[in-house]
Amino acid sequence: MREAIPRAFIKSFGCQMNVYDSERMGDLAAEAGYSEAARAEDADLIVLNTCHIREHASEKIYSELGKLRRLKEERGRAGRRTMLVVAGCVAQAEGAEILRRQPAVDIVVGPQSYHRLPELLGEARLRPGIVDTDFPLEDKFSHLPATPPDAIRRRGASAFVTVQEGCDKFCSFCVVPYTRGAEASRPLGSVLGEIAHLAQAGVSEVTLIGQNVNAYHGLDDRGQPIGLAGLIRAAAAVPGIRRVRYTTSHPNDMSEDLIQAHRDVRALAPFLHLPVQSGSDAILKAMNRRHRAADYLDIVARVRAVRPDIALSSDFIVGYPGETGADFDETLALVRTVGFASAYAFKYSPRPGTPAADMPAQIGAAEKERRLAALQALIEDQRQAFNRASVGRRLEVLFEKPGKREGQIAGRSPYMQAVFAEGPKSLIGKLAEVEILAAEAHSLRGRVVSPAS
Ligand code: SAM
Ligand code: SF4
Repeated sequence: MREAIPRAFIKSFGCQMNVYDSERMGDLAAEAGYSEAARAEDADLIVLNTCHIREHASEKIYSELGKLRRLKEERGRAGRRTMLVVAGCVAQAEGAEILRRQPAVDIVVGPQSYHRLPELLGEARLRPGIVDTDFPLEDKFSHLPATPPDAIRRRGASAFVTVQEGCDKFCSFCVVPYTRGAEASRPLGSVLGEIAHLAQAGVSEVTLIGQNVNAYHGLDDRGQPIGLAGLIRAAAAVPGIRRVRYTTSHPNDMSEDLIQAHRDVRALAPFLHLPVQSGSDAILKAMNRRHRAADYLDIVARVRAVRPDIALSSDFIVGYPGETGADFDETLALVRTVGFASAYAFKYSPRPGTPAADMPAQIGAAEKERRLAALQALIEDQRQAFNRASVGRRLEVLFEKPGKREGQIAGRSPYMQAVFAEGPKSLIGKLAEVEILAAEAHSLRGRVVSPAS
């Protein structure tokens, strides 16, 4: 009798960087002979690709692992072996501690060494309990197999491409420099090769991603340094690529060249996610952000000067140690001044090993909650106002999937708004011009005017 094909289930937590890494681990598993499982219950290999950014995010992993231990035992009783892998930033930060807290785990592998997954699986079958959280010198990307075209098509017309990893900024609240290591950029040729491969399989939108994507400084084919603006121009020129996005940026790396790209590069979407964290100079200083609120407003003005319709987005932390009511009011004032299309607000979460975790004047839970609610209400008002202003306009929508209701299709506008419309499934994967009829709670409703050329 032929043995059944083993199946792999990969669950991603946290940011887009993890979504990308999970897809690449899926490619490695496919190459190692695994097919994709839709649920953990059916999988012979389970990978949790974890997030460590806030306390809540990492504690979630341990409760998930408790459930998976029971599943592994059940499957074991039925004679089926399950390999349990913890990858991502919790793996990097906690290493062997994960095995101590959950001995059912077979492999702990960090974000810089997951390209070794196939060999680690071989080793762990004989000797479970491997920890690989090295930052190897070899280039991870050159060891990853090309994604098979059918997998690209399944993932859709919009794809993430990691171009930069790690961070040298050391904001005092943040674990990223410790879990993802020093800033490193992929060479231009490697990124463009991947984009061309994606485009040949039908991808028309790429989002260039990095923890600090606008610090990108790759080398071109002649060994000359090239920044993010140059990379965006080159990506936009790849045949088949119609839209380029990038995320996440730091204000201090918002170069003039990058701002000009928002004017010159037609394919560059008019959307900018630029985290500011706080509107108070005292808090920005304590956070080691190395810019003032006025510097941020200046960047916003310069970007708007070249691209007046740009949709702006940001990240905020409320309740940072020592944040007074007046500091928080300055954050609200900055939000009112800018007028965001969307933004994320988080309660400060102390992360062991970061300077802010040991600062005096930690803010109480109730006060953090109150500030979060106030900021989120303001952001929500601005989001709705931005969406209402789209009603009556014609926007180019990249349709990505079927909508919730029969006969509907759903996609994104250039400004990252979710849009749905009545339309044939054949438009999925394509750009179409859509007249926006209404702004609903979480999305825009529109009418397909014409499929784009
Ligand atoms: N590199 C980006 C930047 O410069 O802002 C984002 C990195 S981080 C993955 C995404 C967001 O998580 C940050 O912008 C910040 O708002 C939030 N964050 C990071 N550490 C946090 C912490 N300790 N507590 C609460 N939020 C945090
Ligand atoms: Fe974290 Fe971003 Fe600051 Fe780097 S720049 S330390 S990733 S918040």
